[in-house]
Amino acid sequence: MDTRRFTDLAGQMMRSALDSWRSGNRLFSVLHAGMGSEFALKAVLCHHDPLLISAHGDRALRFHALGFGGEKGVKPLEQARTIGMADAFKDAEVVMRGRMPVTIDAFAPVMEARNGIAHLAHHDPTTAERVVSTALQVAEAIREELETPAGDFWGEYAHTFHDLAKVGSMPATPSIDLEQVAEALARSEAAEAERAAREAAKSSAAAALTALNRIFSGDRALATDKTAGDALNICRRAVVSTALHTSAMRAQRAAANLLKSYGYLTPTEDQHVPALEAVTVKSLVARQVMGAFRDALPAELQFALSAPSGDVMWRPRSYESPEFGTYLFRWAPCPACPAWGDLYGWLEHDVCNDEECRSGGSYCGEHDEGPPILGHAQIFACPMCCLVLDADQELAAAHMELAALYEG
Ligand SMILES: [Zn+2]
Ligand SMILES: [Zn+2]
Repeated sequence: MDTRRFTDLAGQMMRSALDSWRSGNRLFSVLHAGMGSEFALKAVLCHHDPLLISAHGDRALRFHALGFGGEKGVKPLEQARTIGMADAFKDAEVVMRGRMPVTIDAFAPVMEARNGIAHLAHHDPTTAERVVSTALQVAEAIREELETPAGDFWGEYAHTFHDLAKVGSMPATPSIDLEQVAEALARSEAAEAERAAREAAKSSAAAALTALNRIFSGDRALATDKTAGDALNICRRAVVSTALHTSAMRAQRAAANLLKSYGYLTPTEDQHVPALEAVTVKSLVARQVMGAFRDALPAELQFALSAPSGDVMWRPRSYESPEFGTYLFRWAPCPACPAWGDLYGWLEHDVCNDEECRSGGSYCGEHDEGPPILGHAQIFACPMCCLVLDADQELAAAHMELAALYEG
């Protein structure tokens, strides 16, 4: 990523923030303003030296910045770690020599906004206005610093961006495509997942070392290659799946909040966003997060994402009699990832169509012995990518059978 690319992305995000503001979507305006100012900060640092955005002297970034990117042993630039937003702000203050228009304290809410709309569930309109204007001020100061033409950066907002009231009253609100916004969300959550995968790789190495030390300092008889290998794999699997689940759950919450901000609460007949769009948004986010996580994971840890082997596999099974409560009754392929997801629902006794069978004469063999039981799907939850579909319309839109014969 170079200055030009960061500046383009910053402008694009800030224009989306203004589009959202114009159409009254505060939550998205805040999210995009947060993302836009992060790109702006990185642009101004890159402009002075790309090394300034490298996290703790990241090796890949250092070499790429110095022109050794093509050499053997230098990781691709996409895998380089860049500094966090707080450091980016403080460093930008330095290179801007007093021309940064706001303090880090004033900028703090913008940094929180960058962490995703999930964190903004309780935002109120006054906070939104302050966050967006702060982000706009920072972006404008950096635009001037980089001498980017205002028309290129702000587009049609070149004369109004500093006045949110004016932006809000601009006529002919452009329609914001939910999908487009969802894709931006998926991209930013995927970037987080990538970071999480790299962290998981690091802590898995540490966890494995601890496990091996325990084995070898304990019962010598147990210290065989096999037990050591098993312990190592269990450690790795635990670290990797925890990291994946944290990222995936966070992303699903963000997707649910996005849908909520577009008026999708509980699907009804005259819902704003049809169930199909909701399923599309949720699976898009789940798929991209999962994919980014998988791609960022080193080869030796990939096994943790495959179907668990017999000794590790544990699945909740119902132990209550079918009359009680909602519980897991069936597995179904996940629409977002290659895993099997869990279908929760309620069960009811059914009557067999076969008269002989019904009267207790000869068993038809079409269902479990005894009267057939019907399972009604209510919630689908994927244990891998954390996709959750929790309305009948969503399950139907994902082509899942709403009622099926229960096989205990
Ligand atoms: Zn029957
Ligand atoms: Zn899944």
